Parts: sequence; structure tokens; C-alpha cells
Amino acid sequence: MDLSLTPAHEALRRRLRTWLAANLPRSRRDDRSVEYGEPERIPAAKAWQRKLYEAGFVAMRWPREYGGQGADVLEQTIVDDELVRAGAPGLIGLLGVEMLGPTLIEWGTPEQKRRFLPPVLTADEIWCQGYSEPDSGSDLASLRTRAELDGDHFVVNGQKVWTSYAHLADWMFCLVRTDPEAPKHAGISYLLIDMRSAGITVRPLVQMTGDAGFNEVFFEDVRVPQANLVGGLNNGWQVANATLAHERNMLGATTRTQQTFQSLLRLARTHGRGGRSASADPVVRQHLADLAIRVETMKLEAYRQLTDSLRGRPSGIAASINKLVTTELNHDLARTALDILGSYGPLGRRDARVRDRGVWPLDYMFSLGLIIGGGTSQIQKNIIAERGLGLPREARPGR
Ligand SMILES: Cc1cc2nc3c(=O)[nH]c(=O)nc-3n(C[C@H](O)[C@H](O)[C@H](O)COP(=O)(O)OP(=O)(O)OC[C@H]3O[C@@H](n4cnc5c(N)ncnc54)[C@H](O)[C@@H]3O)c2cc1C
Repeated sequence: MDLSLTPAHEALRRRLRTWLAANLPRSRRDDRSVEYGEPERIPAAKAWQRKLYEAGFVAMRWPREYGGQGADVLEQTIVDDELVRAGAPGLIGLLGVEMLGPTLIEWGTPEQKRRFLPPVLTADEIWCQGYSEPDSGSDLASLRTRAELDGDHFVVNGQKVWTSYAHLADWMFCLVRTDPEAPKHAGISYLLIDMRSAGITVRPLVQMTGDAGFNEVFFEDVRVPQANLVGGLNNGWQVANATLAHERNMLGATTRTQQTFQSLLRLARTHGRGGRSASADPVVRQHLADLAIRVETMKLEAYRQLTDSLRGRPSGIAASINKLVTTELNHDLARTALDILGSYGPLGRRDARVRDRGVWPLDYMFSLGLIIGGGTSQIQKNIIAERGLGLPREARPGR
């Protein structure tokens, strides 16, 4: 593993630092509240993504012909790290940039790429992911939302659930059943659906954080042009899996976890407990040491994967490992913070005595959802066992 940076890499880091110092408003630094639950903040979030894109720091790994920078994985990692270190807000169009975009670049028609990629970059069009249904989460291939061809349109009927961003999205990348007679993985197609089409109803679901970040989405005779089919009829499972690997990598990003651990250490050193700082308590120290080892292991695994990627080796089950390790670690970090805070833990954001602007209880609740979203921990363990360790396949196929 050789991760020494070239002069060009160092220059990129300096350029971004300078740009952030000039362009990231102080009021938006370290603002970790859940943006999509607060509709009044959407215009500012879109403006931020556009600004970042115009400066050349969004979707850096996309080829130049599609609006990216043709960057290598190390350049992308430098940019991701710097944004997190500066406390920059996340991208509101994240699902478009990280999931739909790379999938369309691989599977889309030239016309689909021309039409859909530019507004993904500028956040002019926000995307949501229509995969899960009431009885199809882990066993995603059992999904039942139907799409039948009628002339040059599909007619879609059915229901999706847990659809993050659907209440503010312009478009959905959606899995539908187009051949009910075929084996379940072989009868699925991948459609791009305009969320303003007649026949779509979106009902927000309130999470335990109090935000309504995800939704139920109902389709009643929704007409979708055949030109919005990606990857061919009944070939949606292959396309869907390309998107899922991108999703797991996105959820498994490690820099933010390292930052959260540093915040936890600061909290332990400064929060009083029994007349001394919490970090002096042997039980707390034991927890912190355990977490430090996990954070360090996660970081070294990320470096190992980066090396593999730079050498062109296939990523294998890396996305599942990252997703499993990072989401569980994030939850344990927040839980330890709440243990340290004791009765201060549940205080609301507006309470004068609240610590760290009230992010810990929010992180605790939200991180639990991310252990489930994108395929649960149990499903990632199945994938690692079967595809990574070569253990026997379990009877029921997972996500
Ligand atoms: C915050 C959040 C955001 C989400 N956003 C989206 C979104 O934008 N779009 C979207 O399509 N979906 C989204 N989801 C849905 C998510 O993908 C599903 O919740 C997830 O795949 C699990 O499906 P399920 O909820 O139906 O649980 P189930 O599949 O019913 O699972 C229930 C339990 O059984 C376990 N289990 C199931 N099968 C197996 C097995 N084979 N082996 C071992 N254990 C098993 C699971 O691990 C889980 O503990 C989101 C979920 C959350 C929490």
C-alpha cells in the first residue's frame, strides 16, 4: 500500500481548501441536521450543490463527457475527505450523483445520458429510489409493482415504501415487474418515472427523529414512456444491482465516521461525570478504546480497498463490508455519546443545556435506520459469507 500523494494531488487538496475557505458559509459548517426533513432549507441545499459543481467538485469520477472530471479514486477520496473535514453540508442530489448517474453511465442509452445526467449534477432534478415494497425489502426480487406495455408507454400500478426523498423528488428510478410468468429475478425492469405524472400519490412517513424523510408512493395507471426503460426489458435485476453496489459504497463512506469519533472524544474529555471528565472513567475509557480500534481497522480496510482500486483489482464484496462495518460503528459511536451524556442525552436542540447542538440523539436514531436501509446488516453478512467466504448459499435469496 503506497498512499503518498503526488504534487497534483497535493495541489487539488490546496485548491479545494482555498475554495472552501472562501465559499462555505460559516453558518453551514458542521450543520449535521437532517436536511431533507426541513423543506424550507431545500433551495439553499440545491444552490450549494450547484456552486460545488460549478467549481468542479461534484461527481469527480464521472467521465468528462458527462460533466465529471475523469478523476481517479484517490482524487475523489481527497475531495470527500476535505468536504467532511470542513464540515460542508452533504449533497441534496446525492442519490442522483452517487447512484443513478453511475448506473446510467454504464447502462443508459445515449439519449438517456444526454437528458438526465446534466440536471443530476446541478441538483436541478432530485431523484429517489423506488425499490422496496411492503412485502419486498430484503427479498427485493419478489416485488409486485406491475408495468404493462400499452403502445409506446408502460402503465404502472402498485406501491413502493420507505422511499427517501420522494416528497421532494422530481424523478424516481424504479423497479417494476414486467413479466409475472418469468422466474422472479428475470421478470423485472428498471424504469425512470417522472414524479409529476398523473396517478402518483406520495404519503410521507414520520421517522423517530421526528422528520418525514421517507414515504409511501402509490401508482395508479401511471404512464411512463418506453424510452425511459434502462438496460432492456426484463433486465432490471442486473441494472438494479449496479445501483445497489454504488449505494452501499455511499453508505459505507468512512471519513465522516472518523470525524464523529473525534467529536465523541471531545465530548468525553469535556463532559463532567461524577466530579471529573467522563474520559477519566475506566468504563468509558474501555468503550472508547474498543471504538478507537474499530475506527482504525475501518480506516486501514478503506486504505486497502483504495489500493486495490488504484491497481484495477475488482472490488468484490468490499461495498457490503463497508456498509456493514460503518453503519454499525456509527450507531455505536452515537450510543456511547448518549451513555456519556446521561440525563443530558435526550435534551432537544433548542434547550440551553444541550451539548453539540443536539446531534447525538438524532445521530443515534438516524444511524439505526441506515443499518437497515440499502440492505440490512444480516443481508450484508449473508453476502459476505456466500460471495466472500464461499459458505453454502442460504435458501432464501436476499437483496
Ligand atoms: C432510513 C431508511 C431509508 C430507506 N430508503 C429507501 C429508499 O429510498 N428506497 C427504497 O427502495 N427503500 C428504502 N429503504 C428500505 C430498505 O431498503 C429496507 O427497509 C430494507 O431492505 C429491509 O427490508 P424490510 O424493511 O422489508 O425488512 P425485511 O426484509 O422484512 O427484514 C426484517 C428482518 O429480517 C431480516 N432478514 C430478512 N431476510 C433475511 C435473510 N435472508 N437472512 C437473514 N435475515 C433476514 C432482516 O435483516 C431484518 O432484520 C429505506 C429504509 C430505511 C430504514
